[in-house]
Amino acid sequence: MSSAPNTYDAEPIPDTARAEVDRLLSTGDLFRYTAKDASPVARLETAFAEMIGAKYALAVASCSAALFLSMKALDLKPGARVLIPAFTFAAVPSAVVHAGCVPVLAEVGPNYRLDMEDFAARLDGTIDAVLISHMRGHTSDMDGIMELAAAAGVPVIEDAAHSLGTTWNGRNIGTLGRVGCFSFQSYKLVNAGEGGILVTDDPDLIARAVIMSGAYEHNWKKHPVLLDHFATWQNRLPLYNTRLNNLSAALVLAQLAEVPRRVRDGRAHHDYVAGRLNTSPWLDVPAPLAPESRAPDSIQFNLIGLSDDEVTAFAAAAARREVPVQVFGMSTDNARAFWNWGFLGDQPDLPQTRAMLMRACDVRLPARLTRADLDYTADALLAAIAEVMSEKTQAVA
Ligand SMILES: *Cc1c(COP(=O)(O)O)cnc(C)c1O
Repeated sequence: MSSAPNTYDAEPIPDTARAEVDRLLSTGDLFRYTAKDASPVARLETAFAEMIGAKYALAVASCSAALFLSMKALDLKPGARVLIPAFTFAAVPSAVVHAGCVPVLAEVGPNYRLDMEDFAARLDGTIDAVLISHMRGHTSDMDGIMELAAAAGVPVIEDAAHSLGTTWNGRNIGTLGRVGCFSFQSYKLVNAGEGGILVTDDPDLIARAVIMSGAYEHNWKKHPVLLDHFATWQNRLPLYNTRLNNLSAALVLAQLAEVPRRVRDGRAHHDYVAGRLNTSPWLDVPAPLAPESRAPDSIQFNLIGLSDDEVTAFAAAAARREVPVQVFGMSTDNARAFWNWGFLGDQPDLPQTRAMLMRACDVRLPARLTRADLDYTADALLAAIAEVMSEKTQAVA
């Protein structure tokens, strides 16, 4: 009999990491600035920039650190207002607060993407920057966003933490805005435990970010691309010390070759399960926008026409079949429900985003799953919804 897949286990780190990790352990060379050049962190920056199609990259401790440094590198002043989607992870408004700025939340629709009308209305003269969080890799209308932001004269930061491998009109997500930020935390496509990287084509921005990440004295000379801008900013910026270490970089470097497979399999798995779930009248996997090609490691779907009690019963019925379903807005203290971001103080309600969160389900689908795992998952979810809604189905029939 088939059993439920464990969707939280990670993939093993490729063997190619071992020689480099052994070398680092035997020499103790863990700090990115100890070696004169070509440290694993510097090599990661070169390789990642090339892979993603950006001029410059800076590897740091987390995506949150990358977002924080992006806002600092853009020289956003204390109190600057940063427009973000109301559907994101609590770390995103937290990074805005950490940078001394004020998050302004925009409505997100039932397809998990920014409501462009609401976005345009909120992008008034009081907004200083836009931070687009591609939550679970779902990509909002980047053409519309870039156009509106350009017209408003404000920079766009991309939170691509969970979007490695996603493209928009064939271009990598994270390279559309002035700066893009990625995560190497264990639940993302590349797993270093923790870590992040920011990419940009802007030489002034990268120089400022490098120095503020903790390139004290002349350590910026050990970065892969040398620019006059580094000397310009020497001694003029605070050092926030949020660097990546060589061990983490070695783990990421060994996984870059895995990215195309994880993207391909993740997309195929998602689309297969989506096709099966969409056969139920009670389940809806929203379609992507046309220019978007996503690299999912999870699936999101909406429960259609269910009451709160039925939503709870569905999650319980799936859990009995050992498929954990998180309904974003119904689980206690969920970090992706904006009303739990008490650190922001009083916020206006966002009824559309709230309604979506109360019916949107989240199920992990890592790229290493087999077809049998996918069928187990889809069967369990379809059986759970049939069990809960069978009375209604009979009433309709
Ligand atoms: C994981 C995640 C983050 C935070 O990344 P860290 O590297 O853990 O700081 C931010 N935004 C989104 C959309 C994420 O999925």
